[in-house]
Amino acid sequence: MATVKDFSVEEKLTAVLSLQKIDSKIDEIKTLKGELPMEVKDLEDEIEGLQTRIHNIDAEINSINSFIDAKNNAKKESLALIKKYEKQQDNVKNNREFEAINKEIEMQELESRLCEKHIKDATFELRDRMNVRLKTEEKVKDVEEALIIKRTELEKISADTEIEEKELAEKSEEARLKVDPRLLIAYNRIRGSYRNGLAVVSILRDSCGGCFNVIPPQRQSEIRQHKKIVICEHCGRVLVDTDLNDKVII
Ligand SMILES: [Zn+2]
Repeated sequence: MATVKDFSVEEKLTAVLSLQKIDSKIDEIKTLKGELPMEVKDLEDEIEGLQTRIHNIDAEINSINSFIDAKNNAKKESLALIKKYEKQQDNVKNNREFEAINKEIEMQELESRLCEKHIKDATFELRDRMNVRLKTEEKVKDVEEALIIKRTELEKISADTEIEEKELAEKSEEARLKVDPRLLIAYNRIRGSYRNGLAVVSILRDSCGGCFNVIPPQRQSEIRQHKKIVICEHCGRVLVDTDLNDKVII
């Protein structure tokens, strides 16, 4: 008859802690990769948005330039008309005719000044748009640089971690077999219920390393003694002392 070896509490804790460390390492890689593709996509979207903005600014600049051209032409026309009217004034037959032409000249002078004002305002607006365009272009460059960094990082991680991930998955399977079955059920349940995937945590500055609630000195001493498995009364995680935590290296 095969004898079932009775594992000590310390052995049980060591086994489950090893598993936790391996699984946490797997989580870490997944998190790294999990966020990078999204970050890359965000940056790509940002560049696209900025380029649309530049495109819209260009359309505005074109429209302002057309407006300025039109106003320059209108001004030229007014000035030409003024010249024409002034010539006509030399050949008027009476005062009434002279006054009538004078009114036309005044109107064209007014028109010309109005054109000048429009050109001035539009030029100001044009400068502002060009400035915004320049700043937007600079922003595109910044985001592009960030994108290159993130893309390279993602490619590097993908290349680097492929083998490591495979090794860790194998290690995790092996470590799982060494964990006390009842403890493994608890481990799976606790690990699944927390987003950070931590089911076994170390004491951290007199607190639970999972929920950070203070652990009374009496309980801390129980944890250190390895006579029984101690669970955090706040979060239910398995607690280990720092010495054991430091000893278990994966
Ligand atoms: Zn806790």
